[in-house]
Amino acid sequence: MTAPATAVGHALDPDCLFCKIVAKQIPSRSVHEDDEFYAFHDIHPWAPVHFLIIPKAHIASMAQIGAEHGAMMGRMMALVPKLATPEGCNPYPAGGFRLLYNTGDEGGQEVNHLHFHVIGGPRPWLRG
Ligand code: AMP
Ligand code: ZN
Repeated sequence: MTAPATAVGHALDPDCLFCKIVAKQIPSRSVHEDDEFYAFHDIHPWAPVHFLIIPKAHIASMAQIGAEHGAMMGRMMALVPKLATPEGCNPYPAGGFRLLYNTGDEGGQEVNHLHFHVIGGPRPWLRG
């Protein structure tokens, strides 16, 4: 499939929910945005803090990640602690957060665009 690009040139999948969120075709509650990544609140949070971080470029899942993605994945991971505390996660070690990336049907992935769930805040949580 020939993927269209955003103004800054990211490959988008026109059938992908999170690509539509990146393109602002579907509204979302922003947590962070830069040239490479977008973070937004999960529509069905199961803890006081629950947001998603996605690369703007369409990558289906962790199953597609290889060594060539190492630098990009490092930058994506570095966003986790940077955003978690301002979003309401309490400081480590008493606080902290859960980082989750569901992969494939058996991994519980429902949206096929790579995303980190960042989940935290005071317990109890709805799940987990
Ligand atoms: P996963 O099961 O890991 O693929 O997670 C997909 C997540 O996307 C779920 O936690 C959903 O609640 C969330 N989600 C689905 N649609 C939206 C949306 N329009 N805005 C924000 N989060 C969404
Ligand atoms: Zn996508």
